[in-house]
Amino acid sequence: MEKVKLVDVTKVYEGGVTAVKKVNLEIYDKEFVVLVGPSGCGKSTTLRMIAGLEEITDGKLYIEDKLVNDVSPKDRDIAMVFQNYALYPHMTVYENMAFGLKLRKYNKEEIKQRVVEAAKILGIEDYLDKKPRVLSGGQRQRVAVGRAIVRKPKVFLFDEPLSNLDAKLRVQMRTEISKLHHKLGATMIYVTHDQTEAMTMGDRIVIMKDGVVNQIDNPLNLYNKPVNKFVAGFIGSPAMNFVDGKIIKENILKFISDDNSLNIPIENSYEDLLKSYVDKEITLGVRPEDIHAAGDNELDVKNCYEAVLDVVEPMGNEIFLYFTINGKEIIARTAAVDPPEPETKMKFQFDLSKAHFFDKSTEKAVK
Ligand code: ADP
Repeated sequence: MEKVKLVDVTKVYEGGVTAVKKVNLEIYDKEFVVLVGPSGCGKSTTLRMIAGLEEITDGKLYIEDKLVNDVSPKDRDIAMVFQNYALYPHMTVYENMAFGLKLRKYNKEEIKQRVVEAAKILGIEDYLDKKPRVLSGGQRQRVAVGRAIVRKPKVFLFDEPLSNLDAKLRVQMRTEISKLHHKLGATMIYVTHDQTEAMTMGDRIVIMKDGVVNQIDNPLNLYNKPVNKFVAGFIGSPAMNFVDGKIIKENILKFISDDNSLNIPIENSYEDLLKSYVDKEITLGVRPEDIHAAGDNELDVKNCYEAVLDVVEPMGNEIFLYFTINGKEIIARTAAVDPPEPETKMKFQFDLSKAHFFDKSTEKAVK
């Protein structure tokens, strides 16, 4: 059964901004679904409509099969964790966590039992009588999560909950929330602009752009089978490289870039896929890990492009190499050997066995 279902949900703000356009989405029991996309794509608005904090202009929203468009937030049985924690400064951690239960007239014993249980799960038992101001960012975020847990809601909603934390803590809280999801067996909907967060946490990911859902899929499918150029470029870091050009057929198919600098044979396996694109414009997409630095003495120096390195970024376990093809920046990602110096001339080999192709005008993946 779907826990949450959106049917053609649309939001037009006063003043006429259409923030969300006909979103259709089914979220199943115990699923962790991440809404991701660049700033302004409508992900928070979608989450806030699910929470009941924002009115739905058009479409239908169901929670456990019940139409809830007109049900107030407090009666939807959902709990939301915000980016800024939204803790009451004058209350202790215990009181903050207990507050929602008190409002709902739970008895004292039940409240205590739930708060202590949640505090144990989150490792904040020692702070229960402290005020939020003496806690670190990570501890405050745990309290905010604890306040949601004690309610035992049907659905947890998270709105960029880790954005205010430093990089290290963000990674730590990311795994903690994933663990929590498994431990509680809860349904969670999580909003972030960070594709790494989305990829590492989501069972399924909803990619939005300009208020429209572009693709809903599991992380690997998004990475390997993006439906369009936007998704292809959004998922993966560093981002996929794109080169405009066309497909030609000599005795085999080849990709030739617009500036003729790249002239690469295409694997036979793409023949069927690309035959209707012969002599037509197309965009080639190659992930950085599929562009290899080819040594001079390498036997196979086919498909090579010679370029001068602009920037070298040694990451420790790998190196990012930046170069330009006719004014267009290309990034290659290679194993960590001795990093070459910038301005070195190098040969790069494009491995098209995992290439992506996009229709140049529609930007849809060729399939
Ligand atoms: P995201 O969470 O993806 O950054 P939002 O859902 O916050 O995006 O916003 C989507 C669009 O709606 C943006 O263009 C934003 O400017 C607009 N918007 C958000 N909130 C309001 C509001 N209260 N009134 C008018 N426009 C809004």
